[in-house]
Amino acid sequence: MISENVKTLLKELAAGNAFGEKVTLVAATKTRTPDEINEAIEAGISDIGENKVQEFRDKYDLIHGANRHFIGHLQTNKIKYLVGKTHLIHSVDRDELATELARRCEIAGVSQDILIQINIGCEDSKGGYPLEEGFAAYKKIAAMEGLEVRGYMAMLPLSDDKILLGKLCDKMRALFEKTRDGGGKIDFLSMGMSGDWRLCLEHGSNMIRLGTAIFGARDYSE
Ligand SMILES: *Cc1c(COP(=O)(O)O)cnc(C)c1O
Repeated sequence: MISENVKTLLKELAAGNAFGEKVTLVAATKTRTPDEINEAIEAGISDIGENKVQEFRDKYDLIHGANRHFIGHLQTNKIKYLVGKTHLIHSVDRDELATELARRCEIAGVSQDILIQINIGCEDSKGGYPLEEGFAAYKKIAAMEGLEVRGYMAMLPLSDDKILLGKLCDKMRALFEKTRDGGGKIDFLSMGMSGDWRLCLEHGSNMIRLGTAIFGARDYSE
């Protein structure tokens, strides 16, 4: 099942997004076993993302051959477990986190690729900078030694209103292009989960994070 899902998805994604850009598929692996994750990698998954530091650490050595992303809320006291081991941190959502991450990277002598998270739906339950503060956050964080800002990440609100969701994506794409046109060397707009990824690709996302569409429904009972 996992392997078929991956192959079908990769075939569809090979066409790129609506802007003719290559799309990176990140498998969202929370609650999945190392066996399931390794099966997805064998089928062609090149990038995986965890959203809890504990799971990231527990599975780290049991998974073979993929770029490791971190996509969840990150507490500053857990940064040390990710620095130097993470391909891309998607969830830099506040100044305090960026500052502490930069400090840790300098101490470790590493350069860490990150995305700036935007709270595009203005939801209390989600982290991220307000859209209007996105570009200022980019300029501030891009100037920090140790951090390499590669783009933005956002999670759309749960809604059936395709027009509303499309507009929110367009706003993220506009921020992405404004930053790039302003000289920012960014390349990723991480937006799209199992329920909304096609819409996100139509509206300019070039990195999607899929869990359910690859592995099936999640079971949180254990
Ligand atoms: C779980 C998760 C996803 C994937 O969710 P699905 O709906 O299962 O595709 C994507 N992004 C983040 C940050 C997640 O925590």
